Amino acid sequence: MEARINGHTQLFGLFGSPVGHSGSPVMYNYTFASLGIDAAYLAFDVQIDQLPAVIQAVRTLNIGGFNVTMPCKTAIAQYLDELSPAAKLIGACNTVVVKNGKLEGNNTDGIGFVRNLQENGADVKGKKIVLLGAGGAATAIACQTALDGAASVAVFNRKDEFYANAEKTTEKIKAAGLDCQVTVSDLANDDVLKAAIASADILVNATKVGMKPLDEQTLVKKEYFRKDLIVADTVYNPKETLMIKEAKEAGCELAVGGIGMLLWQGVAAFKLFTGKDMPHEEVFKKFFA
Ligand code: NAD
Repeated sequence: MEARINGHTQLFGLFGSPVGHSGSPVMYNYTFASLGIDAAYLAFDVQIDQLPAVIQAVRTLNIGGFNVTMPCKTAIAQYLDELSPAAKLIGACNTVVVKNGKLEGNNTDGIGFVRNLQENGADVKGKKIVLLGAGGAATAIACQTALDGAASVAVFNRKDEFYANAEKTTEKIKAAGLDCQVTVSDLANDDVLKAAIASADILVNATKVGMKPLDEQTLVKKEYFRKDLIVADTVYNPKETLMIKEAKEAGCELAVGGIGMLLWQGVAAFKLFTGKDMPHEEVFKKFFA
């Protein structure tokens, strides 16, 4: 890589903490090199209280754009000049682009989720969605699917510190005047969940259940699945969660894991950074398969 870095190379980055485990630098640098883009991508371990200095550095050093990860995804929004409609609604950004000196915040998590379904032949427009979860991923999915024309999003979460989050998101979607009915229910009401799934088109898990070390757990009883229910997980470790495995066993025609969402949110961020299409098949084979 050293050979292609020169006096004009544009810097992109990742801000958050921890970032040492992130696969983003290797994926972006590979893609820059393979497309002949004169840019480099580095990860910087920063905390929320350092964000004002980080923003100053981005402006001073003319950094081209950056991704944001935990714990900075929500806090970053207040320091930016503009927010995309999704970032505004979600209240968090994972991709910031610098356009004519202005910092524009975007959120590609929900975009990645919707694209992953589309790539598997399913659209969210007009669909009734049951969404398990009220954290960062679930909020992005609720907002993006509402923006993309879902008929309804029924959110279910346990009564923990995330529950109020879902209520707030519901209010924001209503206030935005989107034609999508959003409700929030306690996950403990299994009869309510069963009825919601029975009339839904798409069921999504955006909780940590299914992810290691909760990989032997699922929030959905196998008898709730039916052939024409689309089932999607955000969890990508393991690649096939217990929920997805059971959905397939129950005959669901489409049951997709979270790895595609991860790929497509990166593809969307790359497009925002460079205006170019990431060679997604090659990148998937090399870094995600
Ligand atoms: P978060 O910490 O913001 O939210 C956690 C959510 O999980 C909350 O809704 C919480 O109530 C719920 N939860 C946790 N333990 C639970 C349990 N035992 N029973 C029921 N609910 C429980 O996390 P996040 O960033 O929103 O991530 C949620 C999941 O989405 C993770 O598994 C993560 O890997 C996945 N994710 C995937 C992608 C992707 O690109 N595929 C992107 C972001 C997150």
